[in-house]
Amino acid sequence: MYNIIFVGAPGAGKGTQASMVAKKLNLVHISSGDLFRQALEQGTRLGKQAKTYMERGVLVPDEITIQMVMEQLSAPDGENGVILDGFPRNLPQAEALDSALDRQGKAINKVVSIMVSEAELIKRLSGRWLCRQCQTVYNAVNSPPRVAGKCDKCGGELYQRPDDKPETVQKRLDVYFAETAPLIEYYRRQGKLLEIEGEGSVEEVTRRIVSALPAEKLATR
Ligand code: AMP
Repeated sequence: MYNIIFVGAPGAGKGTQASMVAKKLNLVHISSGDLFRQALEQGTRLGKQAKTYMERGVLVPDEITIQMVMEQLSAPDGENGVILDGFPRNLPQAEALDSALDRQGKAINKVVSIMVSEAELIKRLSGRWLCRQCQTVYNAVNSPPRVAGKCDKCGGELYQRPDDKPETVQKRLDVYFAETAPLIEYYRRQGKLLEIEGEGSVEEVTRRIVSALPAEKLATR
């Protein structure tokens, strides 16, 4: 069992890397942002609750977020372990996660922190396009799709996230540095932190992450 958290500022490549590493290691990928976006698209009660917070680039309240992620964590298909992407995002969420896992006799094994400079984050976020169907991320400058507006993998329609507008991007970065960055110290103190340089190609960064993860855990899956 290998439970890993991915932490990184918006635009650090956290979602892309979480999805690549989950496939390679056969782990379930749980993205809180994707869960909220799906709920929003489907117009569910959860989506309606999350909408105004997401539009402003601030965090959805903890009681809503924690319940949503815990439901996913108790789904039976995660027996190899999970990659949590975008959760936890503040200390109360991290503490709630630790005690919920503890009650199930489980724990977080490693925390991957992806580090990218603020200038690079802003550049990446402003050119970001996502597939509506499979959530693959493209960048107009660094990694454009082969056909404009279409996903290379599934042919789905590409769209820009409404919260990637410049004012909201700045707000999301501020929220990250104020509320989420303190988690890095929390996990460093627990001896679980792996700091990974996030600039370079997607494949290079994936290789760095996989080779930083202790092999004895991989062998037991
Ligand atoms: P993301 O795709 O991870 O950038 O998340 C998009 C938006 O969803 C964030 O700006 C928040 O409004 C909301 N969100 C995602 N994960 C969380 C979380 N763990 N806690 C609170 N809000 C979240």
